[in-house]
Amino acid sequence: MANQSDLKQLNKSRILAHIRANAAQSRAAIADALSLDRKSVTNLVSELIAQDWLCEVGIQLKRRGRPGTLLELDRSKHLFLGLHLSENLVHGVLINLHGEILSQQSMPFALPADLKAIKSSLLQVYESLAVAVFTELSAIGLVLPGVLDFEAGKILRSVNLPALDGLAPQLLLPETLPVPLYIEESSRAKALAELWFGLGRSHASFVCIDLGIGIGAGIVAERRLHGGSYAGEIGHVQIEPGGRACACGHLGCLEAYVSESSLCQELSRILTRTVCSLQELELGQLNAEAEELLCQAGRCLGRGLAPLVNILCPPLLVLHGNLTRFETLLMPALMQGLEEAALPSCLNRVQLEISGFGAEAAALGAAAIPFEQIFAVNNGFAMI
Ligand SMILES: [Zn+2]
Repeated sequence: MANQSDLKQLNKSRILAHIRANAAQSRAAIADALSLDRKSVTNLVSELIAQDWLCEVGIQLKRRGRPGTLLELDRSKHLFLGLHLSENLVHGVLINLHGEILSQQSMPFALPADLKAIKSSLLQVYESLAVAVFTELSAIGLVLPGVLDFEAGKILRSVNLPALDGLAPQLLLPETLPVPLYIEESSRAKALAELWFGLGRSHASFVCIDLGIGIGAGIVAERRLHGGSYAGEIGHVQIEPGGRACACGHLGCLEAYVSESSLCQELSRILTRTVCSLQELELGQLNAEAEELLCQAGRCLGRGLAPLVNILCPPLLVLHGNLTRFETLLMPALMQGLEEAALPSCLNRVQLEISGFGAEAAALGAAAIPFEQIFAVNNGFAMI
């Protein structure tokens, strides 16, 4: 059973979550909405103001009774830094409690990259975003490419940045950090960005599909990320028994047909020029063969996602990644692949959407890792 101190912290988290969901609120409105007595709310709010979580923003005039002072989440204190180390780039965002991006920065590095080059880019982004707001910083989230061991706190394997293999992530940042460091994997971080700031705000359960050099799924069930570092490996669902060799050692995985690197390789051959990223291409630059390749990729993706649709029947599937730039080709083909392989009763309940976020998605999710504790999703309150 929770003790008094736990209960107090939980109620503080509930107050923050209520204000986040309903904009500026008076103490009386908070007390009514959360079924708390007004004196307790007054005391808890005083503490939250003293700790810079809340601020008073104006007066609410009423027809009857005393005017109430409106409270809002403080915009300028408790800032969160999200860093995304991808295969050739570091992207960072600094956000406040409202999820507003206050500044962002990116820094590429050349491949093949050694540890020194990766660390140098990461430090430049960290310093440009964090140094000026050191005293307001509450947490840092770091998204890493590869398989992570969350319990041991290390990177098990990074296929595209082997210099990271076996490394403890804190060694990539300054030795002494002013605040806690959280680590996360890319697909899961993108799911967090959707959950707190994107399409997931109106869905308690959904799945994010990250279409990049690797293909992963971030699964959110009842507003919580599901599973750990080994969950969500949808890219290694077999869609073609005995088919193309995959980096995982098996044959015919979805990733061997739809990963950005395999598509770029095929497009380079078809367009007779080197294509390093799907970002380099516009729909109008594609010939009929290239368009057919992307349609095939969409159908493969549909077949690969069908088991997930059948097993989880998520109300929402959100697609991330450069392949979504070719939405008009991709989506009909993806739907065709799904219709060929998924149960209609499941598929009919799944809404398919393309994320509204761009390159900032994973960094944004990284910055929001502590939000679960702050806003009482898991009866959490460790940070308050
Ligand atoms: Zn595989």
